[in-house]
Amino acid sequence: MTAMVDIRSVHKNFGSLEVLRGIDLEVSTGEVAVVLGPSGSGKSTLLRTINHLEKVDSGWISVAGSLVGYRRRNDKLYELRERDILKQRTRIGFVFQNFNLFPHLTVLENIIEAPVSALRRPRKQAVESAERLLARVGLEDKASAYPRQLSGGQQQRVAIARALALEPELLLFDEPTSALDPELVGEVLDVIKDLADQGTTMIVVTHEIGFAREVADTVVFMDEGRIVEQGTPTEVLDHPRHERTKAFLSKVL
Ligand code: ADP
Ligand code: MG
Repeated sequence: MTAMVDIRSVHKNFGSLEVLRGIDLEVSTGEVAVVLGPSGSGKSTLLRTINHLEKVDSGWISVAGSLVGYRRRNDKLYELRERDILKQRTRIGFVFQNFNLFPHLTVLENIIEAPVSALRRPRKQAVESAERLLARVGLEDKASAYPRQLSGGQQQRVAIARALALEPELLLFDEPTSALDPELVGEVLDVIKDLADQGTTMIVVTHEIGFAREVADTVVFMDEGRIVEQGTPTEVLDHPRHERTKAFLSKVL
């Protein structure tokens, strides 16, 4: 299997705070990696570096064979121009904790916005594709609703459809169910599970251990800017080797 995501020796500081202290991670094509770890361990920052929303201080990341945010010439790295960064970003879908839908746009408009404006897709084609995606997340009847008229679970499913509209090679989820009422968590996790079953490559930051057990090919436990432990769900969740993993799991299980 080829690596869809290849992260090597990534370091990231915010001022004197070392947030990522040498991250190495490979995610194969079609694989689901679930990232666990206490608050402040660097999970969101790691996801953001994969999308070049944060620049790394050292190390490098490649997605689908392309270096993220840079190009290499004569063994030197040159940062991409903003336009090329945006273009590269369209290949990676990002789903946030708080949905981040455009409040003044309908569900349909939210989904077609990027395909039409960033990818210059014909509007009719974008609409047809958006309608298919809405059916896929179970919201075919909500195309003309505004985000405020939807439940949190429905809004998050729209956000997933919006991410899929760019036909990304990789999907990143940052605690996609943390802002939801408990009874709405399942409907969002079910959509993510379906995507996993269809072979979508994903990195999912979540505290949902049951989901990790069921869906993850690999579970990554982060603490203080490092990957402390990584393995199959059984290895990491049932037979953790590190004290910090055990302590974390005893709190969330
Ligand atoms: P997690 O997602 O695991 O909770 P984060 O990646 O959000 O962790 O944050 C890791 C650390 O980096 C935290 O101490 C946080 O306060 C800090 N941090 C995150 N983003 C910034 C930023 N833009 N500027 C300064 N510090 C930040
Ligand atoms: Mg976070």
